[in-house]
Amino acid sequence: MEIINVIPRGFCKGVVRAIEIAKQTAKAYPGQKITILGELVHNRFVVESLKNEGIETIEDKSLSRMDLLERITEGVVIFSAHGIADDVVARAKAKGLITVNAACDDVLHTQELIKTYLAQGFRILYIGQRNHPESQAAISIDPLRIVLIETLDDLPKSFEQETRIFVTNQTTMSQYDIRQILSSIGDTYPQAIISDEICSATRTRQEAIMNLENVDCLLVVGDVRSNNTAMLAKIGLTKGIPHVERIESADELDLSSLRGSERIAVTAGASTPYFLIKQVLDSLETLKRSLDSAVR
Ligand code: SF4
Repeated sequence: MEIINVIPRGFCKGVVRAIEIAKQTAKAYPGQKITILGELVHNRFVVESLKNEGIETIEDKSLSRMDLLERITEGVVIFSAHGIADDVVARAKAKGLITVNAACDDVLHTQELIKTYLAQGFRILYIGQRNHPESQAAISIDPLRIVLIETLDDLPKSFEQETRIFVTNQTTMSQYDIRQILSSIGDTYPQAIISDEICSATRTRQEAIMNLENVDCLLVVGDVRSNNTAMLAKIGLTKGIPHVERIESADELDLSSLRGSERIAVTAGASTPYFLIKQVLDSLETLKRSLDSAVR
């Protein structure tokens, strides 16, 4: 058995920065209640470790960020790495809360592009996922002039050919999916200006999987709610790797199902802490040693 530690994988710059901002905020406001609005990054181990440092997270997927905000009555509110709508920030300030924005620069860049093209009279096609906070923040910039595209079925048919259109996307999408959707949009609306905003962390982690050769198993370590983690698994399946499995930690590893694999690759989402990846690699090394000694 060969174990391939896929590089790059795991924490990206945006996640590292968001965690650092949360910790620095706790230091800067001793004695204040610090609450993160929604998960800072999509990983429960990160959320738990922040809680141990006195930084609370409130999350309820059935509520919008605006409704969730109403549960925070005092102290500091930190907005997550996925970006936040301007009206939520304004409401937090109106409530007398201290606001700290941990949004990733790449997410903010996409939001700025959208605002720039809206100001010039463009309609926006935004490729993303309806229930993801990054998409929700982007759409909230102007819900009447931004159309969310989850699949090609969402592509508007009613635009005139002279309508000015700007197309962009959630930063953590699959490159395979985006290529297909952008190509179709380009065919339907040749006048569209397209800016593929998949971030470089997502891109390089996906490319590392695309470049794998002769791998019969891909293990993807990451939280079930992490979109970039889900996309890594999707890339592996699209590439045709026979066995692709998502796990949150080594506890979910089914070693018996891996005994027949010859080359196992391990990757991890951008919000997965290193210790979780290391535990998975260590478990695989133990399995490899036991298989090797059984052969001898
Ligand atoms: S995955 Fe990309 S957009 Fe998201 S936090 Fe990391 S660098 Fe930023």
